[in-house]
Amino acid sequence: MRFEISKVLDAIEGRVCTDPSLARAVVDLAEVIRWQNLDGGRPASLLRLGMVIDALSRQIGEDSVPVYAIVHRALLSDADLTSNERMVVRRWADDGLVEVLDQPGDRMLEVADLLGLPVLTRARLDGLVGRYPWVGQAGRVLAPVPGAGGPVFIAHVGGGQDPATGSRSPAGVKVLSRKWRCPEPGCALFGGGGGGGAFADLAAVDRVPAEQPPPTLRTGAPTCPRHGARLSDAGPRPRTAVLAVRIGGLVRKRFVLTETEPVAIGRAPDGPGGVTLGQWLNDEARRWISRSHIRLELRVGEVVVTDTSTNGSGVRPGGSMAEHERIALAPQQSRVLAESDLIELYPGVQVGRADDMSSDAKYIPNSVMAEAPTMAMRLPRP
Ligand SMILES: [Zn+2]
Repeated sequence: MRFEISKVLDAIEGRVCTDPSLARAVVDLAEVIRWQNLDGGRPASLLRLGMVIDALSRQIGEDSVPVYAIVHRALLSDADLTSNERMVVRRWADDGLVEVLDQPGDRMLEVADLLGLPVLTRARLDGLVGRYPWVGQAGRVLAPVPGAGGPVFIAHVGGGQDPATGSRSPAGVKVLSRKWRCPEPGCALFGGGGGGGAFADLAAVDRVPAEQPPPTLRTGAPTCPRHGARLSDAGPRPRTAVLAVRIGGLVRKRFVLTETEPVAIGRAPDGPGGVTLGQWLNDEARRWISRSHIRLELRVGEVVVTDTSTNGSGVRPGGSMAEHERIALAPQQSRVLAESDLIELYPGVQVGRADDMSSDAKYIPNSVMAEAPTMAMRLPRP
């Protein structure tokens, strides 16, 4: 059973990130793990994060939905968690998948403000409407509560269940147009320290991850939320495009395309950074779709698709599903993707810009918890 829980925690690990382009909601992990009435289990459990992520996935109608987790430093030594859970959270912290802070304060709200994301919390935030007007908008603050078949959301304002996103705040747009570097060596959020001559500095810039979390602006200047250190400007943030894979009407995965890294998509593309579709395909689609079926590149802001398959693919101009409008893409052929165009690897298997993709049918996404709902109930009670 311990092995199974480890597998569940690994699955949850795939759903925490500080990538501003991919995170879909902000949570305070110290708060989430203590929502004991979600499962009636131990006082603190990391599995509750999985339950909340599943609920978000169901509500948005998308698979593989990640959350941006703020973690109070005390959680790394919280005796109510198992030693395995503490180890897992430490690993997430070391890898920059979560933000570990000595004083989280209202960082959760700041991140939500900068990125335009909903907040999942049971705390009443009414008093903060003056500072963050979006707190008063329907669906921007939701409380996960127990429901039949897992947690459900209740919006603090408006009473609905749907998480609402907003625009990035002007400060967020500005601060996210640059890359930032933390002077603290080995900073998981803003790259290594560098120093020691011009070339060492250049090398340090190269190590700065392409997708950084938003710096905190609470001190009046871009600052590392983890180390409290002023960040230095490491140049313009590279252009990116957020794309999505939709299979059988359900958005399965979003991913970020950068100008430095092409992305291979197929049944099981080789190498890191590829998007593997095999797990979501039926037998016919698996036979048709090559291991690496298409390659996507971002060139001066344009998305270019190249067919790398045996059987070819197609482009649906403007997302049109009319058969006579489908443009065939022969093996080795390339094409610039126009606004709203969808690439079709096989009927019902589509790739396009995330903004143009929504799940067009009611589906139950795969649970990040796998068999965990029953496992959570089997956990020893205090
Ligand atoms: Zn730092």
